[in-house]
Amino acid sequence: MIHQRDVIGRLPVYKPGRPAAPGAVKLSSNENPFPPLPSVVDAVVAGLDGIQRYPDLGAAELTRRLAEHYDVDPGEIALGAGSVEVAGQLIHASAGDGDEVIFAWRSFEAYPILVQVAGATPVPVPLTADERHDLDAMAAAITPRTRLVFVCNPNNPTGATVTAEELTAFLAKVPAEVLVVVDEAYVHFDDDPRSANGLEFFRNHPNVAVLHTFSKAYGLAGLRVGYAIAPAAVAANLRRVGVPFAVSDLAQRAAIASLDAESELELRIREIVAERQRVTAALRDGGWRLVDSFGNFLWLRTGDDTERVDGVLHAHGVVARAFAGEGVRVTIGSPEANDRFLAAAADAL
Ligand code: PMP
Repeated sequence: MIHQRDVIGRLPVYKPGRPAAPGAVKLSSNENPFPPLPSVVDAVVAGLDGIQRYPDLGAAELTRRLAEHYDVDPGEIALGAGSVEVAGQLIHASAGDGDEVIFAWRSFEAYPILVQVAGATPVPVPLTADERHDLDAMAAAITPRTRLVFVCNPNNPTGATVTAEELTAFLAKVPAEVLVVVDEAYVHFDDDPRSANGLEFFRNHPNVAVLHTFSKAYGLAGLRVGYAIAPAAVAANLRRVGVPFAVSDLAQRAAIASLDAESELELRIREIVAERQRVTAALRDGGWRLVDSFGNFLWLRTGDDTERVDGVLHAHGVVARAFAGEGVRVTIGSPEANDRFLAAAADAL
């Protein structure tokens, strides 16, 4: 028997969602329904004749552009092949054997997996009855072995936000040595005026980092670019932990072109948010009960009925993300895809 760590064999395998039948709409991975912008395609095509070379190791231009965009120091930025990789870097740099990492549950499914891969102990803290982070309970879960806390705002899969007031009160209870990572994968869709702004907290607290991605609002999920904005010493360690050359040259070019196209992307974001509001209202009119979501997805708390509801959606050619015994998360897609989902949801009620 080859020596491998037992915990690895027990980890769930990351699943991309139920396979789509021909003609089905894929609403399972919180992807952007819009095709890439022509300017982004042009930037990627322009990079093709350089793919015999490694990318810029430090991603200097993209780092500089992000630093400028957020008015932070380039040394406070660490990039990775998607923010899931950066989340892994944060865990590896902070927590090892016997250390604890706290996060709300249910939340992004990668947190407990990455924590266990690092040999550390996941500490999931149940959401409140209204699908929100229970920050009092999360503060109470802190022990001398706590190294990291993930706060997912808006939360995947429920779409609920963490308010600035809640995060302020929470941070007052967190020891200065514990890093709090605000995962803002869906921040661009968040129009809740009470929601915490991770960047403001980063500026005012020495133990806060923010996690962002180009996969959602920027529509570059397939190219894999994410980053942390973190205290300089933390960001430097993330670069030590990170795989060299993880962010390809094509991905760097596409990310830069996307930063250049902010106003076009903003229009798309507004359309997705408008669709989210339309679909939420239509579901409620039809009799569904659901909390307000501030991401690009909705959460149906279907409990023991989850498998049946997911089956009805599937029969209508709608591929959603079902969490057995808990609920179904459905991405906001194109208006046509959303209409298909609404017809399926009406049938499932
Ligand atoms: N954080 C959250 C909350 C997510 O939902 C996701 C994607 N599902 C990620 C991080 C990772 O996204 P990516 O690796 O594509 O940047």
